[in-house]
Amino acid sequence: MKIAMIGTGYVGLVSGVCFAEFGFQVTCVDKNPAIIERLQAGEVTIYEPGLDELLTRNARDGRLIFTTELASTVADADVIFIAVGTPSRRGDGEADLQYIYAAADEIAAAMKPGAVIVIKSTVVVGTNADVRAHIAKARPDVPFSMVSNPEFLREGSAVEDFLRPDRVVVGVHDERGSNAMKRVYRPLYLRETPMIVTTLENAEIIKYAANAFLAMKVTFINEVADLCEKTGGNVQDVARAIGMDNRIGSKFLHAGPGFGGSCFPKDTRAYAATGRKMNAPQTLIEQVVMVNEQRKRSMAERVIQAAAKSGAKTVAALGIAFKPNTDDIRESPSLDIIPALQKAGLTVRAHDPEARSAAEPALPGVVWCKSAYEAIEGAEITVLLTEWNAYRALDLKKVASLMKGNLLFDLRNVYGEQDIDGTGLEYHSIGRPRLG
Ligand code: NAD
Repeated sequence: MKIAMIGTGYVGLVSGVCFAEFGFQVTCVDKNPAIIERLQAGEVTIYEPGLDELLTRNARDGRLIFTTELASTVADADVIFIAVGTPSRRGDGEADLQYIYAAADEIAAAMKPGAVIVIKSTVVVGTNADVRAHIAKARPDVPFSMVSNPEFLREGSAVEDFLRPDRVVVGVHDERGSNAMKRVYRPLYLRETPMIVTTLENAEIIKYAANAFLAMKVTFINEVADLCEKTGGNVQDVARAIGMDNRIGSKFLHAGPGFGGSCFPKDTRAYAATGRKMNAPQTLIEQVVMVNEQRKRSMAERVIQAAAKSGAKTVAALGIAFKPNTDDIRESPSLDIIPALQKAGLTVRAHDPEARSAAEPALPGVVWCKSAYEAIEGAEITVLLTEWNAYRALDLKKVASLMKGNLLFDLRNVYGEQDIDGTGLEYHSIGRPRLG
């Protein structure tokens, strides 16, 4: 079985590499020649633990090819995955499906009879049926199957998530589509990974509902943290206890500076927009979107107020990526917080272990540093924005001695009382009592 993977971003590249690891012949296509040139040269274009080794091995063994030639690749493929971006449309928050339709047009022109076309990108309900009609109109002579196969991998553990998912969801409209998916995911099936075979529409709604629910859980615990701060509570103790209830579960109950990343912000906006359009208001998620935006502003405000009170001029920002183990900065809270600090007249010295090259053009005026300690040097305030392992065990006495001031804002609750005691730092975290 030959697989074509259209789009070699976080989802397309990881999926393509992992399908090759399953033993299939995979050709990954991207319209960006710079990405393909680097991949052809054996260079991994995104930072994702474990990807390097799998990519090198499968490319060397001839199961994995990279090209910009979509037409010839599709003409030869049995299963064609679409993994292009579906960003937010400016203004209304709806998902911008232009890349999906552009890829669909190119696929329609080149596909062979019996091809199975699979949308892996996150698309709003109705898109698969619409794309199917669109392709059928362009090529009424060619039989093909449409499949919706939303992806649930997380950046930072994408390879592991792809190879060991909680479940695989496939939406189909015919047996050929469902049989193709059973073959493609057979290695996981053998490991007893549940496979939900459902309708195109269900698969589309499942993806958005899952992300909306997780974003809501994060927003919920952030608001609990606010209440803890005002009342002397500790959000970590509260989260731990409520999370032990199996009906709630302990995951996604970590309070922080607001969710970011390439999925939750755009997917909650698109989900809410779909609800408005379909006259089925998703009121909870509308609130989640609004509260999360406010949260990022309020985080910056905390630091700005502390700076004004203490006369601080320089802030060290540790971590730009929206979470650890990725170089992805899309909609990272740091992209709101750092410019707000700069606007308030503060100088920002920043460090991130992997995201600097992505972040530099997005954050003009920032002083980039090679290590956390270099960033901290001379700063009156340090803000920990992303919980990279490299920031989990900083020598806080050294931090205090390098800093000009002594304020540490830990927006990820990495440190505790025992770490702060005796350092001379004034420690502010999220939803926990102030220390020092
Ligand atoms: P991305 O922006 O990293 O990558 C998309 C790639 O597609 C780009 O390299 C682009 O050049 C390429 N592309 C666009 N149009 C093309 C075309 N016509 N032909 C060939 N290549 C084309 O996107 P991503 O983060 O991988 O996300 C892809 C989809 O998967 C989105 O819908 C996203 O919501 C969804 N998703 C993402 C994640 C994640 O963690 N990133 C997780 C689950 C689902």
